[in-house]
Amino acid sequence: MLTRICQVDKNMDGEKFFGFKRIVIKIGSALLIDENGNFNTSWLGNIANEISLLLNEEIEVLIVSSGAVAIGSGIIGRKRNLMNINELQAAAAMGQAQLVMEWQSALSDHNIKTAQILLTRQDTENQKRFLNSKNTLQALLKLKVVPIINENDTVATDELKYGDNDRLAARVAQMVMADGLLLLSDVDGLYTSDPSVNKNTKHITKVESVTDEILMMAGSKESNFGSGGMLTKLQAAKIAMHAGCTTIISNGSQDEPIKHLMENGKCSIFQAKESPQAIRKQWLAGFLDTNGMVIIDKGAETAIRNGGSLLPVGLKSVSGNFERGDVIIVSNQKGKEIGKGIALYSSYEAESIIGCRSELINEKLGYRGKTEIIHRDDLVLL
Ligand code: GLU
Repeated sequence: MLTRICQVDKNMDGEKFFGFKRIVIKIGSALLIDENGNFNTSWLGNIANEISLLLNEEIEVLIVSSGAVAIGSGIIGRKRNLMNINELQAAAAMGQAQLVMEWQSALSDHNIKTAQILLTRQDTENQKRFLNSKNTLQALLKLKVVPIINENDTVATDELKYGDNDRLAARVAQMVMADGLLLLSDVDGLYTSDPSVNKNTKHITKVESVTDEILMMAGSKESNFGSGGMLTKLQAAKIAMHAGCTTIISNGSQDEPIKHLMENGKCSIFQAKESPQAIRKQWLAGFLDTNGMVIIDKGAETAIRNGGSLLPVGLKSVSGNFERGDVIIVSNQKGKEIGKGIALYSSYEAESIIGCRSELINEKLGYRGKTEIIHRDDLVLL
């Protein structure tokens, strides 16, 4: 049984690094599709089994799966490097349909429900779209559905594009406040220099911080090693670590990659120093560009001081002009600023549900709204 995703490296002071509760697993194209464009159904079946074991352990799993372009170019019968951007987008659109079907079929063998999520860079960087994507992902996790995520290659032009799923996976991890990011590809981690060129290179087991020196180890973009993706993996690890998410780079080409990782342990670990929750609260506390304020009653103040969310029933008044997704100040009736958080309603909507009990919110708004004005995960006390 997978009681922990892994507790591998004996040299790490016996610490338990991998008691993950929510993990994003990024799977590279090379693991799913061979050079001739054939889909590796048996590998997928094995990892589906491993995912079901993780879910049994109450670890939430999100998959970022590459492979759409590789499958699509196989269907079209053209090599990836011979296609122009629109043809590649067409290939991705064709391949994505099969990719998600394969995932759906493999996971449904374990009675696991799946959902397809296609994101662009904008969806993870624009505050409002970030919130929408985040809420959908949270809802799926609550329903015990495994999201199968890829870049929305059809609409992503260069300026909207990640271009690699490593950084997309890191942004997803940040979005859902995952504590673990596992980057599975055909490399077993970071080396001091390109192992295919330098035989004396050393494998790096643990990275405390992704410094320029560490980034240099990935080689230049031009080299095969660099374009093979180590640089984007390090950039992903950097994003994830800043969000409080520990990243593991590991070789997934074994039949049971997670079991292999647990037993063999050869991987590079980028250990986050703080939890995603702590990082989010620090970010909120330091956020200066607030657009509005809600004044709340004593009951609501007690509720949020006890770690609860802020509900419309506790609202006394609303000031300023804010949109959903903006950071706003929470103040008590004595005028003391007691908190800051991300508004789930615009100021206009919030006005209309002042003092409203949860069961009456939908009726007041005329549509189905959120129960909270500010969710407790996005609320910090000052
Ligand atoms: N979105 C691309 C695909 O599914 C892959 C990008 C990547 O491999 O990082 O084919």
